[in-house]
Amino acid sequence: EKEELKKLLNVKVVDKSGKHIEVCGNIGKPKDADQVLENGGDGVGLFRTEFLYMDRDAAPTEEEQFEAYKYVLETMKDKKVVIRTLDIGGDKTLPYLPLPEEMNPFLGYRAIRLCLDQTGIFKVQLRALLRASVYGKLAVMFPMISGIEEFEQAKAVVDECKKELDTEGIAYSNEIEWGIMIEIPAAAVMADELAKYVDFFSIGTNDLIQYTLAADRMSEKVSYLYNPMHPAVLRLIKMTIEGAHKHGKWVGMCGEMAGDEAAIPTLLEYGLDEFSMSATSILNAKKILMNH
Ligand code: PEP
Ligand code: MG
Repeated sequence: EKEELKKLLNVKVVDKSGKHIEVCGNIGKPKDADQVLENGGDGVGLFRTEFLYMDRDAAPTEEEQFEAYKYVLETMKDKKVVIRTLDIGGDKTLPYLPLPEEMNPFLGYRAIRLCLDQTGIFKVQLRALLRASVYGKLAVMFPMISGIEEFEQAKAVVDECKKELDTEGIAYSNEIEWGIMIEIPAAAVMADELAKYVDFFSIGTNDLIQYTLAADRMSEKVSYLYNPMHPAVLRLIKMTIEGAHKHGKWVGMCGEMAGDEAAIPTLLEYGLDEFSMSATSILNAKKILMNH
């Protein structure tokens, strides 16, 4: 069984039309990129950068972040690396970043909302990402986007950082892809509009399912409602993919559902371009994709 899967290490999955379906890995720490390669991943589909900020007394400096992103980009060489900007709040907190007490933290001050409010923190990360971009094939995505205004605001902060770097004579790549997570139902519904402005989407099903079905992803009591194959969830995923393809943009999925054996054939049929999951699920996902 294991030996059979190993044969798929260097196999490229293609769909019926001959399109390459990318099978990528999710990482939380730079070193995790090694496992993605060892398991035959086509790239990194999600780097959850909040892990760089956790278990410490202060936020990582621009230099520390630059080194982390550079390591992943150099490790993956010409393979694509999708790095998500800070997604803190909700269930994840930092000792040095006080958050307001909220009744519903998952509906509150988190992710891009916090970054657009505290642009000082955001800019440190964006500068590090821009500087690292010359070392590989970088795509950057923003979490918890509900509408185009947030994407435009985030891009405006990126432009500020670029101007600063220009003045300082520091290089960055002009080929970075800029995308958004689709994890709020409003964004999925408006996908065909949003697709005009972004380079790609990545569907975050962990949050998309909880928001669509109003079932807390952490609550065991309502876990029976948390169903990836619920027709409402499937319809939103389909709309997202079709909306993107209408404008020639690619769509990945980096929530748990992307590695879910029961869901993979449906996602393939919908035309999903990239599946991203924990490194240890990559070979099995390739097997399922090849058999459909
Ligand atoms: C998601 O919501 O599906 C996702 C990938 O992001 P996270 O699990 O980090 O919230
Ligand atoms: Mg999420």
